[in-house]
This record gives sequence, structure tokens and C-alpha cells, in this order.
Amino acid sequence: MAFEFIVSELAARRAASLLRQRQIIEQVDGRTLLVDGQPYLNFSSNDYLGMAHSDDLKLAAAQAAPDWAAGSGASPLVTGHSQAHAKLEAHLAEHLGRERVLLFNSGFAANQALIQTLMSHGGHILADKLSHASMLDGALASKAKLQRFRHNDMCHLAGLLASAAGDKLVISEGVFSMDGDAAPLLDISALCQQHQAMLYIDDAHGFGVNGDLGLGAGSMLEPAQLPLLMATFGKAIGTSGAFLAVPEDIYAYLVNFARHYIYSTAMSPLLAAITLTSLKLLQKQPWRREKLKENIQLFREKARQLALPLMDSQTAIQPLLIGDAQQSLTLCQKLKAQGIWVTAIRPPTVPQGSSRLRVTICASHTKADITALLDALARGMGNDA
Ligand code: PMP
Repeated sequence: MAFEFIVSELAARRAASLLRQRQIIEQVDGRTLLVDGQPYLNFSSNDYLGMAHSDDLKLAAAQAAPDWAAGSGASPLVTGHSQAHAKLEAHLAEHLGRERVLLFNSGFAANQALIQTLMSHGGHILADKLSHASMLDGALASKAKLQRFRHNDMCHLAGLLASAAGDKLVISEGVFSMDGDAAPLLDISALCQQHQAMLYIDDAHGFGVNGDLGLGAGSMLEPAQLPLLMATFGKAIGTSGAFLAVPEDIYAYLVNFARHYIYSTAMSPLLAAITLTSLKLLQKQPWRREKLKENIQLFREKARQLALPLMDSQTAIQPLLIGDAQQSLTLCQKLKAQGIWVTAIRPPTVPQGSSRLRVTICASHTKADITALLDALARGMGNDA
């Protein structure tokens, strides 16, 4: 039978209790959501600073609406690149101290575009073992040889760099999406400089939150140390889309050769204008980052007291390592029964035996919300005796 794999692969997922399904989620205010009319506290959002639902940003969106088109109407090299896009790019380039910024409709597309295009003539890609799927897909679609180094293991990377040939690209993340820890940025950039490798950091989860004024990895390293940077707007910035910050020559190369950029309708101009407003608001509202930090500390402190299986993360991503996929799912269901929404992350997203609850803490959570989560976790994991 043709396409037989569809039935067999879905059956295998179902048998392993790993079948993925969507649900209609109605966002209420960022900290709560509704599913089938039931309210839940939301501990699964990447809107770390509460921007997506903030009154400030909603008002700015309403004010911007009459001035900007809802859609760009074309790809950027045809007629899709507007003043709204140019202003957003210029703001990012100035604040990150980078020569050029290029917008994409998603971080997934930006990662693929940069890696696939830059490595289209071969060479070597050295990727952290936990690099995001979009970076690996970009690497696989390139002509380069892909090797993965053990997570954050600089000795392993140094060894691979020493034996790599041709153009070398090292890829890693400012904050790892499933573990919440960070790449050792100074060490990794020193190694790259020593071996004349280009460093590419995906800062999807650090941008908006970490570093000076929330500018993330781009404010921690100079352009010479970190020539290639990507971040999305879909997380702390509260909108969607993404950007690459790169040197002038790479910008020109991407505009000419990056298929994801050339053959895709440009981001909505209205969205670009709202995103720019969000960036400006975030710089003026350090209290959001401070509140997030306080919430993270509160969660970790109390989770430690309850002996919950915390991982080594100081960021908004606070996974609880359960191990078994079915147990993670059961715990998730117990939390849902208590009005708490946390997603279980299971293979193939994470390695076998490392299933986890991916708790994300946001600035919009109150102390009472965090206490409610911890109480529910303690009950769910049987620590409340
Ligand atoms: N990189 C990382 C580390 C991510 O977590 C994500 C989103 N899951 C992406 C890239 C993709 O970004 P976007 O959602 O904007 O496509």
C-alpha cells in the first residue's frame, strides 16, 4: 500500500503514548487560559515578560493599525519591504551594535536560511547536541558536514574544531529551549576565534530577557566575537517573526541567495510596527525583567524545599526532570485536574528517559500563582504527606 508509513508510524506513536494532539487554547490574559471553557493557570507560555497581553502593547497596536497595512502583499525583494520593516531593522541594528538586521517570518525560517545559505558550498558545521530542530534542519539542507558536540562541552568542541576542514560554523543557543541553561558564550567565542570559525547563536529564549536592557547574547559579546545572531519575536517580545543580525557582506549574501527570505511574503508591516513598539516598551520597563527574576527565584527556592527534580537553569525555563514519558503525562494530567497547565515534553523532542514537565515562569504570574503551582506539584508527586 502506498504511504503505508503514515498508519504504522502513527500507530507506533500511539502505542508508546507519544501521540501529539492539538487543543484549542483560548488565551485570557497571559497568566490564565481557557480550554473547553475550563480556566487554567498557564505555566507553558514563552511570553516571559507578559508583553503579548499587556495593555500597553494592545493600545500601541490599536494606535498603529490605521497607519500600516495588515499584510505586506509581496516578498521583500518585490514590493514587500516597507518603512515599518526598515525602522524595526534599523532599531535592532543600532541597539545591538550590529551592521545589518534582516527580518524573517519565524525563527524556524531564519535559522534554516542562515545555516543552509552560508554553508551552501560545504565546510563543517559543529552544533551543540541540544540545538533546536530548525538549526539541525538547516545544517542537513546545507552542503556542509554536520557534527554535534556534547552539550556545552568545550573540550569536545575544541577537538572537533581542530580536525574540521574548510569553512567552519559553530552553532549554539543563548538559552536552551528544553533545559533552560545557557551556552558558555565567552568560551565558545574564544574557541571560534582561535580556530577561525564563525559563531552563530540562536537567542530565541534570551532576547528580551537577558543582558543589558534585555538585548540578550548580542549585548554580551561584540560583533567580532559573535558575528551571527538570531532571535525570535514570538517569545519575550510578545509578537511573532524573527531577525538575523549579521555583518554587511553576509547580509548582502543572504538578500541574494537565502531562499527563505527571497521567496516568502514579508512579515506584516503592522506586525513590524507593533514589534518595534514592544522593543521600545521593554527597554523602558525594566520592572518586567525584575519581576520575572523574582518569580524565578521564588519558584526555585520553594521547589528546592520540596525536593522537586529541578534542572540547572536560572532562566524562565524551569523544567522538572521526570524521566519516564508516561509518568510525565500522568503528572501533567494531575496538574490539569487542579487547574494548572504545564506541558509534558517527551521523546522525540527530548532524549529517551529525559521526559520532563517544561514549566515556564513569566513576569505576569503572581506569588499566589507560583504557590498554587508548587502545591499542585507537591500533591501530584506525592510530597504532601
Ligand atoms: N529556536 C529556538 C531555540 C526555539 O525554541 C524556537 C521556537 N520553538 C525557534 C528557534 C523557532 O522560532 P519561531 O517560533 O519564531 O519559529
